[in-house]
Amino acid sequence: MQRFVYADNAATTAVLPEVIEAMTPCFAENWGNPSSLYGKGRDAARALIAAREKIASLLGADPKEIYFTSCGSEADNWAIKGAAHANAARGKHIITTKIEHPAVLQTCKALEKEGFEVSYLDVDSDGLLTAADIEAAIRPDTTLVAVMHANNEIGSILPIKEITEVCRAHKVLCFTDAVQAVGSIPVNVRELGVDMLSASGHKLGAPKGIGLLYIKKGVRIPALIDGGGQEKGKRGGTENLPYIVGFARALELAVERLPDMKRIAALRDRLAEEIVKIPRTRINGGMEHRLPGNLNVSFECIEGESLLLLLDRAGIAVSTGSACSSNSLEPSHVLLAIGVPVEIAHGSMRISLSHANTEEDADYILEQLPAIVSRLRDMSPLWSAAPTGDIGDR
Ligand SMILES: *Cc1c(COP(=O)(O)O)cnc(C)c1O
Repeated sequence: MQRFVYADNAATTAVLPEVIEAMTPCFAENWGNPSSLYGKGRDAARALIAAREKIASLLGADPKEIYFTSCGSEADNWAIKGAAHANAARGKHIITTKIEHPAVLQTCKALEKEGFEVSYLDVDSDGLLTAADIEAAIRPDTTLVAVMHANNEIGSILPIKEITEVCRAHKVLCFTDAVQAVGSIPVNVRELGVDMLSASGHKLGAPKGIGLLYIKKGVRIPALIDGGGQEKGKRGGTENLPYIVGFARALELAVERLPDMKRIAALRDRLAEEIVKIPRTRINGGMEHRLPGNLNVSFECIEGESLLLLLDRAGIAVSTGSACSSNSLEPSHVLLAIGVPVEIAHGSMRISLSHANTEEDADYILEQLPAIVSRLRDMSPLWSAAPTGDIGDR
C-alpha cells in the first residue's frame, strides 16, 4: 500500500481517538439540553460546566470569560465587529496587520464599508512586527488592535504580550486570533494580557465546527446571537455539547503534549535543511519565532498547484498558499506581505506537522519531493530560460 503522509495540520487536524472517546457519551447517553431542569438536562449541564472549566484553566482564564462559538472565524468576526461597534462613539479606527487570516481581514473590510477606518500594518520579511510599530499607528480615535498570535501560512509568532502592554497604555482594546497558536505553543490569556482571544477546535484534534472567544471580564461587546440566553446571553443557541466536550479534551491533550513540540520542531528543521538543498529553493519567513510544525518553502519555476497534485499522487498532503484561499489564483497575501515576489509566491508549499508525524514521514517527503520538483521543472519553459543563481541571494 502507498504511504500516506498528512502534513497539512494548519488546515485541519484528524480528530484524535481520545477526543472521539470523550465525545461519544454525549451522543449516545448524555444528549440532554443543558438548559433543561430534569436529570438528563442537569447531566448535560454538568458536562458543559466541566468542559468550560477545563478549557478556562488550560488557557489561564475564568470560566465566565469563555464563550463557545461554531468556529474560529465566528469568534474572529464577533470580537472585531463587536469591539468596533461597542466603541464606535469613541472612535472608528482599527489597527491590524497585512498577514491576518481572511476571517480577520474580511471582517475589517466589512467594517470599512460601514465607515470604520482600518490600518493594515506591514510586517518584515520574517512575518513579524513590533509593539513599537503598533504604538506608532495608534491614534486618538483608535479603539481596537487585532493582531494574530501566530500566522497560519508562515508560522511567525507575533509579540502579543508586548503589543497588549502598548494597547493598555493607550486604552485601546487588544484582540488576538490565536487559532494557530493554541495547542502549538503555550498560551495563557492573563500572561498575554489580551482583552479577547479566539481559538478553534479543529486545528488541535477536535472536530470542525467548534471555536471559542475569550472575552476578558469587564470588556463589553454586543451579543452575537439573540436567543435563549446561552453563553451568558451573548451567543444564543443550544450548546453543541459533544463538540465542546471534544474541544476540552483536545486542548487538554495538546497542552499535555506541548513538550513533544521540540521533536516536531526538530523534524521541521531537518525537512528545511534538506529541502533547501534543492536548487533555487527558499524558505519563506524566519526560522526564529516560528510555530514548531510550520515550514513554508518556494521553488522557483514551479506552480504550487501542480506540485500539490503530484505530491498528492504520491500520498503526501500539503498545501500551497493557505487552504482558505486555495480556490483562487491570487498568490498568498501573506507571502506578498513578507516581500516574496509574485512569481515565487506562486511556487510555494506549506508543510504543517502535528504530533502524529514521524521521522518516517519526513524520510518519505524527502524521498519524493526532489524528484517531483525536477519533473515539474523539466516541463517548465521558464526553468530552461531561467538565469542561474540562488533566489535566496537576490
Ligand atoms: C483556521 C484559522 C481560522 C479559522 O478557524 P475556523 O474554525 O476554520 O473558522 C482563523 N484564524 C486562523 C489563524 C486560522 O488558522
